[in-house]
Amino acid sequence: METLEHWIDGAVAPPHGGDYLPVTDPATGRIVRQIANGDSCDIDTAVAAASRATTEWSKIPALARGRLITDLGRAIRANKSELAELEVSETGKPLAVASGEIENSAVYFEFYGGLVGMPVGETLDVAPDQHVFTKREPYGVIGVITPWNVPLNQASRACAPALAAGNTVVLKPSENTSATSVRLAELATEVGIPGGVVNIVLGNGRDAGAALAQHPGVAKVAFTGSVPTGRAVAGIAAERIIPVTLELGGKSANIIFADADLDAAVAGALAAFTGNAGQVCSAGTRLLVHREVHDAVVRRLVDAVAAIQVGRDMGPIITREQFGRVQEYFKVAESEGVRAETGGTVSTLAEETGGFYIDPTVYTGVDNSMRIAREEIFGPVVVVIPFDTDDDAVAIADDSEYGLIAGVWTRDVSRALAVSDRLRTGQVFVNTWSTASVQTPFGGWKNSGYGREKGVEALHHYGQVKCVTVKL
Ligand code: NAD
Repeated sequence: METLEHWIDGAVAPPHGGDYLPVTDPATGRIVRQIANGDSCDIDTAVAAASRATTEWSKIPALARGRLITDLGRAIRANKSELAELEVSETGKPLAVASGEIENSAVYFEFYGGLVGMPVGETLDVAPDQHVFTKREPYGVIGVITPWNVPLNQASRACAPALAAGNTVVLKPSENTSATSVRLAELATEVGIPGGVVNIVLGNGRDAGAALAQHPGVAKVAFTGSVPTGRAVAGIAAERIIPVTLELGGKSANIIFADADLDAAVAGALAAFTGNAGQVCSAGTRLLVHREVHDAVVRRLVDAVAAIQVGRDMGPIITREQFGRVQEYFKVAESEGVRAETGGTVSTLAEETGGFYIDPTVYTGVDNSMRIAREEIFGPVVVVIPFDTDDDAVAIADDSEYGLIAGVWTRDVSRALAVSDRLRTGQVFVNTWSTASVQTPFGGWKNSGYGREKGVEALHHYGQVKCVTVKL
């Protein structure tokens, strides 16, 4: 069986404890490879390599460092089909979707590689006999912990700005999806990024992940994943007094007003809850619809769902465990007395293939206080909730522990802006549902996390400010 080892200090590194974990292809339920199961000793080795590499990395002039980072982006693009296939082998997602994600991953390195020349400080007019300036300096070693849903994309989203700001990284990808992260580090070495600048330690979160957050050599943690794990990682960071960026979950509201272009709104609503089989933090899983157009929207949405071919257009749920969890929510929905307009079932493809396929599901008759309206299901399940006024829509949208995204569908620009101003989320999309741009800062309010990934904003999270005062 194919075996994946850690990548430390520019080379393959077998696990210290000699232990391996199986990785399952969710499209078939079969084991595809095994990965090193890292422990705190592997983390020690990787952090030591990353700490040593900070000196060499910092000696490279900014533009030359930027060129290496950009070259890594190009290398990702040059290896796009191989990387996309690796991603498919562990997530079962459609190849076209995986290819798009690999393309985005390349763009992160190109974008941040191009930003290294940005001004990094300012001069302050304090007194005539003082010269005062600020600069941003790297933290040192950044610990990056990523989930399984968009593997290389999430890794690149954190590693690219971290490297551009002059840090080195130790990345612990999800135990379900390690392959493209290892390939990323190999490509980094191939394009000439010094050994130790990008290190990958594989394994589960309890051991390798926690050890990474706890390691005294790690100066900042960038975490993407679930709320409970985020809370645990933030607890460790609080204890150690180090900064942490948390990109957590969501139960985002997509609000369709009566004056919306319903064709566009329904297409957006469909993409928002079926993209990646609903396994994205940014899924639009609460559809708030003005009562006047409620029935028309539900009818159109059900028709649109019928055109989705499970397996071709939408991949499986990531693990057998998560597959079971989504089915538990079908029982919750039943007990809460809501109506499945479509779905609420395991796909017939699951029986045919052994894969973890779920039918896209639309529930109506839902109240926002119900569990299916409050909890992140992480499957292709949307709940439709009617509203009467703009105030109602905002109140329902904000009545959530999460605050990642909101969608607003209306032809009235004043309403769009007024409602956007009132929504308590990190992102608002008006007449679209898309998180695709590398330039747009991305992150949550409330339990969806704090700190920002993407955009110029992210660079600020990977450097710390030093203020120098010179008495002339
Ligand atoms: P998860 O929290 O189970 O795991 C995320 C990562 O943390 C994995 O690498 C895991 O091994 C590691 N981990 C687990 N326990 C740990 C511990 N005690 N200490 C340190 N690390 C530990 O999340 P998941 O199931 O992989 O991903 C799904 C979740 O991620 C969802 O809630 C989703 O909303 C969220 N997510 C958020 C974003 C975002 O940008 N906001 C993006 C993708 C996914």
